[in-house]
Amino acid sequence: MALRLVAEVITLKTKHPFVIARGGDDDTRVVWVRLTDGDGLEGWGEADPSRYYGETADTVLGALKRLEPHLPADPFDLDATEAKFAQVVPKNGAARVALSAALHDLVGKRLNQPVWRLWGLDPARAPRSSFTIGLDTPEKIRQKVQEASAYPILKIKLGTDRDEAILRTVRDATDKPLRVDANAGWTRERALHMLPILKEFGVEFVEQPLPPDDLEGLAAVRRRGILPVVVDESCIVATDIPRLAGAVDGINIKLAKCGSLREALRMIATARAHGMLVMVGCMIESSLGITAAAHFTPLVDAADLDGAALTVNDPFLGATIEGGQIRLPTGPGLGVRRRSDHTP
Ligand code: MG
Repeated sequence: MALRLVAEVITLKTKHPFVIARGGDDDTRVVWVRLTDGDGLEGWGEADPSRYYGETADTVLGALKRLEPHLPADPFDLDATEAKFAQVVPKNGAARVALSAALHDLVGKRLNQPVWRLWGLDPARAPRSSFTIGLDTPEKIRQKVQEASAYPILKIKLGTDRDEAILRTVRDATDKPLRVDANAGWTRERALHMLPILKEFGVEFVEQPLPPDDLEGLAAVRRRGILPVVVDESCIVATDIPRLAGAVDGINIKLAKCGSLREALRMIATARAHGMLVMVGCMIESSLGITAAAHFTPLVDAADLDGAALTVNDPFLGATIEGGQIRLPTGPGLGVRRRSDHTP
């Protein structure tokens, strides 16, 4: 019997407006996808669209309509199905990964095993997650650092003309390890100027200092040898990685970019083959979206999976972050359930 698809928009509210170098939003509309099989088992997934990559909740709903006729008769038929999805809506990574996650959830539920176990992973190897401090006023930044007291690593959003003041504000408030994400907001000159300052403030690595296509500039920043350079916006799928190798030290995988759980695993393998660092990040997401990514974190070096922690109305329970440590659920499939106290 064919899988039945239901999609529902959920509006996530963040505790603070989430602002990065190219702007920000108060509310985030994500799409909750459910696939039901003939036995009444449900596979769940979430689309977390980003306007930067050309997606919104509305384009997700449109893409899901186009993908529905290509749902597999057998949910175990993951490889061919995901390839077909990528052919039908190549630009709609967030929409595709919602179905990819739902199919993986369904497969795990049929086998009564968590997805991490199907992949042969040890949940104890999941890294700690950083917590992101978005752009804000100095007072608000101090407040956010306070609120992040449970997190052992902070990721600071930069890419403005007041970056040094932001760093100083954070550093005065905490001595935790810091990571910096410029979200493509610097010029080459500015990035080279900032490197020794970042180093002085104890920053561990810098993410996407330059625009995505400026590989020469990224290579120049890396050649300074002051801090490792990780790219996010420059790296969407596994085939992007060979040309990045040698120019940067690592990649940041996001499911909303790469469009499939299996593609995320391919990205990890490809990056490792090139000796690169692997990080996993997220959008503003509920615990459903976060958990899909959390399942492969035992394979990565660094994680920034705070998307659900930034929200105040997460409808789901799944992977958790306890004292910064990512804990994978032990239930079958993705292991995500509804929070009983929540009505969207
Ligand atoms: Mg980033």
